[in-house]
Amino acid sequence: MDYLPIFIDLKNRPCLVVGGGEIAARKAGLLVKAQASVTIVAPDVSISTQTLIDDGKVKWVNGLFSDDLLTGCSLVIAATDNEQVNREVYQHAKKNNILVNVADCPELCDFILPSILDRSPIVIAVSSGGKSPILARQLRARLETLIPPAYGHLAEMVGRYRQAVQAKLPKLSMRRRFWESVLQGKVADHVLAGRDQEGEAILQALLDKTQPEQLQKGEVYLVGAGPGDPELLTFKALRLMQQADIVFYDRLVSKEVLALVRREAEQVYVGKQRAWHTVRQEEINQLLLTHAQQGKRVLRLKGGDPFIFGRGGEEIETLAAEKIPFQVVPGITAASGCSSYAGIPLTHRDYSQSCTFVTGQLKQGELDLNWPALVQPRQTIVVYMGLAGLPVLTKKLQQHGLSAEMPVALVQQGTTSQQKVWISTIAEIAEVAEREQPVAPTLVIIGEVVKLHNSLSWFEVNS
Ligand code: SAH
Repeated sequence: MDYLPIFIDLKNRPCLVVGGGEIAARKAGLLVKAQASVTIVAPDVSISTQTLIDDGKVKWVNGLFSDDLLTGCSLVIAATDNEQVNREVYQHAKKNNILVNVADCPELCDFILPSILDRSPIVIAVSSGGKSPILARQLRARLETLIPPAYGHLAEMVGRYRQAVQAKLPKLSMRRRFWESVLQGKVADHVLAGRDQEGEAILQALLDKTQPEQLQKGEVYLVGAGPGDPELLTFKALRLMQQADIVFYDRLVSKEVLALVRREAEQVYVGKQRAWHTVRQEEINQLLLTHAQQGKRVLRLKGGDPFIFGRGGEEIETLAAEKIPFQVVPGITAASGCSSYAGIPLTHRDYSQSCTFVTGQLKQGELDLNWPALVQPRQTIVVYMGLAGLPVLTKKLQQHGLSAEMPVALVQQGTTSQQKVWISTIAEIAEVAEREQPVAPTLVIIGEVVKLHNSLSWFEVNS
């Protein structure tokens, strides 16, 4: 970061603008908006500067810059068309430790003026660090469409209730929850729709009926993080991720997804790998319970969908038994994510009318699956955790009658920038895997639909 964005209170503080042209007028206008006490020094002034003077908003010193004008100033902006004068202002300001900005000259600036979206009291500043003011302005314009002026009203109203809320809810964590529910619920809906009075009435009613103890209850969110691409998260997942106090996540949750969890939330890795278990399942169940009992909002973030080979059911059984409130948010499971991103429809009128998800995890070197059901015609089989047991799986399927020519796809790290797809047949895929050494997580898709990959594959990975 080249510049630290801060918001300075300039109310009634003396600020100097050197120059009387259009740019000087624009900058002086900003300082006036921030209620600074602005003096302009210039031998002559443009119409817009004159207007500021006539309206009594700025004081005009009719003449040339001299360093005594800097006495007592908090900051100075030089915006003359004379480079020599601008440089002089800069040097005097530096000597006196006064913050200085020289228009259009980043190397002579202590601070730069960002592009501003003013929804006072909400103010959003966008800066490109002087690299591309136009891009900053375009971004501001986009934000303008996203953040209607009513946000200013909402912030104003919240500001008026801050003290009352503080008096009623002694702990910061309680107040945070109270305000989150206000700002995500009906109060905000009304104010943003221009019905300020209705919104305020609901806010008052909420405050009256809220009991501090209610806001101290812990809760667990069991959330599906999807297969990797963060854009595949649901809105609900994202919302809960943004309000958690602590997150327990496993190996399948991508870095990009994790980056979207509330920054202040504590992050705990409880991942599992095939050969070794970092934290045992019972311990995870217990961790969720203990933290919820401490009144925290606990996020359990799991790859894909928590109810598909995710042991999500076990985790919430413990919570249900202890009467801890919880919510379950489905995620896009690996079968959906990988098949979409590999261009392999799981069902297709010409090839497959059903689809089965199975786990290919070996138990003592064996696979205990319902083989006759799996080898039914016109069916797609999706195998989770099937990489290590691939030789056993493919042998068994053939023994039970699946054609040696049946197409198979391996999708490694599907939906991410590391996605790789290998296509072969049931007779040969184990050899392909042996040679290519795909890394976890990899999904196995078996069925005639795999043929469609050739024509439907669309997801390009930039390597
Ligand atoms: N609950 C998860 C599955 C957990 S089991 C879900 O709904 O997706 C773990 C297995 O899922 C892995 O062994 C692998 O077979 C599969 N898997 C998960 N994410 C994957 C991804 N991005 N690409 C390929 N396979 C994935």
